[in-house]
Amino acid sequence: MKRERVVIIGSGPAGMTAALYTARAQLKPIVIVGNQFGGQAAITHEIENYPGFVDPISGPELAEHMKAQSERFGAEYVWDSVSGVDFSERPFKVETLNGETFLADSVIIGIGADPRKLGVPGEAEYTGFGVSYCGTCDGFFFRGKEVIVVGGGDSAFEEAAFLTKFATKVTIMYRKGEEDLRAGAALQKRVFNNEKINVLYHHTVNEVKAGETGAVSAATVTNHETGETYDFKTDGVFIFIGHIPNSKVFGDQLATDESGYLLTDERHRTNIEGVFAAGEIQDPIWRQVATSVGQGTAAAMSAIHWLEENEDDLQPLEPENVEEPA
Ligand code: NDP
Repeated sequence: MKRERVVIIGSGPAGMTAALYTARAQLKPIVIVGNQFGGQAAITHEIENYPGFVDPISGPELAEHMKAQSERFGAEYVWDSVSGVDFSERPFKVETLNGETFLADSVIIGIGADPRKLGVPGEAEYTGFGVSYCGTCDGFFFRGKEVIVVGGGDSAFEEAAFLTKFATKVTIMYRKGEEDLRAGAALQKRVFNNEKINVLYHHTVNEVKAGETGAVSAATVTNHETGETYDFKTDGVFIFIGHIPNSKVFGDQLATDESGYLLTDERHRTNIEGVFAAGEIQDPIWRQVATSVGQGTAAAMSAIHWLEENEDDLQPLEPENVEEPA
């Protein structure tokens, strides 16, 4: 078992930015990629709002750039997923599905969150072809079209309002009544005052259907007040029914909020000294590549400072782990 100064869990924008910074600090970080290289950003068709790119860049391409940039400074990517950790003593233990165990003086977690799925037929099949979990990412592709938004929380209402910049008509489908909406009063007001948005209460989406072109053309929905099930014509189905942070793998070793998001302080420290977190695993609100990159930077700098402060307590690394001076 090799001992590492930094093990980074997750290869989304937060993890890969942390890899870049820790690599440039000569710490030779190990990045355990996880089951989706590049995280959610890498399954985004085109990214137009990440600074520095005048023309849109595809999610997979941006992820490859981030990886190559960090590798240039010595980051090492391991194509495996974390199956368990032991943060009870240092060095920490990070175990993988392929049966490897990494010993780490510090750990940076950027394992992200996944959008909660409806779990209905057609949802997975047409993701990227009309089914989306991100209005900011995909709204532009629905110029002049009509879309459904599923959910009744702040995300659904905010994204519905955002989508009216592009879509001619947005229909929010909420499974309960108006009195149960979770969206805040200000967002509700904004939506109710928007002529392009219509809210259908007590409605659920049971299936997403595509037309001959392979793009979404309708959703089968049920009105639970009348019991009627019918096909609702639409060009897109945007689903905003919450996110699931990928924190289960840490068991009860790290403090989380009631939804499972890791609790971190302003320096991105978790409750365990030497364990840091960045990106959506600890941020239920912003969820942008740009914010995750900023948080990954902050977490990496915190880890670098912490390792420097604790240098005297850390065992020397095995020779092959020590960076040769250039
Ligand atoms: P929420 O958990 O607040 O809301 C999820 C919504 O999806 C609820 O209306 C819920 O219905 C519905 N839902 C859940 N599961 C299903 C399902 N299987 N089928 C149909 N509907 C379902 O998530 P959000 O992403 O909206 O918000 C997350 C956090 O981020 C919140 O704290 C929110 O305040 C914050 N946020 C703040 C913003 C802002 O301040 N501008 C913007 C965006 C998010 P039900 O009500 O019946 O449970």
